[in-house]
Amino acid sequence: MRCVTVRTPEATAGGILRDDDSIVALPSLGHSSVLELIQAGPDAWDAGAADNHPAEWHLDEVDLAAPIPVPPRNVFCVGLNYQDHYDEGDDRGLPEDLPLPVFFTKPWTTLIGHGDDIVVDPDVTAMADWEAEIAVVIGVEGSDIEPERAWDHLFGLSLANDVTARDVQRAHGQWFKGKALDTFCPMGPFLRTLASIDDVDRIAFSLTVNGIEKQATAVERMIHDIPRIVSQLSHSMRLLPGDIILTGTPSGVGFWREPKEFLANGDVVEMAGTGLGVLRNQVVFKKSK
Ligand code: MG
Repeated sequence: MRCVTVRTPEATAGGILRDDDSIVALPSLGHSSVLELIQAGPDAWDAGAADNHPAEWHLDEVDLAAPIPVPPRNVFCVGLNYQDHYDEGDDRGLPEDLPLPVFFTKPWTTLIGHGDDIVVDPDVTAMADWEAEIAVVIGVEGSDIEPERAWDHLFGLSLANDVTARDVQRAHGQWFKGKALDTFCPMGPFLRTLASIDDVDRIAFSLTVNGIEKQATAVERMIHDIPRIVSQLSHSMRLLPGDIILTGTPSGVGFWREPKEFLANGDVVEMAGTGLGVLRNQVVFKKSK
């Protein structure tokens, strides 16, 4: 099952995207949003996945927001979770390896959907950069989750771009502010349920800027795999249905290229992933003051 959040002139509502690109309105199934469907639990997910619901919209006729435009709290993120990204750049002063996942967060107000603009304020950053990532979404609440039970707590997966203002990140001496700017977390186009994915490890994903490939990897290349991330994050910290976790980016970000590259006004950033669709966003620079 593929979940979307639809924006029409009248309303924003959750939906289920069917194979023919028609969309079942979640309110007709008793859930106003994708988050409400997730919170309703696995029986409701199975009911939503049934193929007998009448469609309300077609994908061509609607705009999409992020699959969960307003999650319960900040978007959780893992840094430095692919060895090739860990190794790129030569002046980072990183230790030989990291025994535990590096966690940080982005405010949920960074979230935008497929087709929305990544808005860059040139008075704030001259170094907006891309980070292609797989997002996982919690389905069932839990804390102290053992790795072997982690899959039982997941709802699904999506594509996400952890857009980062590298100069802001460095100026403030930590990661949060440079990753927290409005529109700096494109996610989507849809959220696919775990039950409809054959083999998560085999998911490959890539990112292009203006059609030129910048990043490409597969889930199986993560340093800390998804069960370990979920388990570690849940240690003495309750995870909630609808929580979003970005699982890290591979090599090929703009900052570590030679010469360095950053997003420019009008750039089109496209992510694609096995079974996860295509997430396309244009970069729009604000007028400098
Ligand atoms: Mg990242």
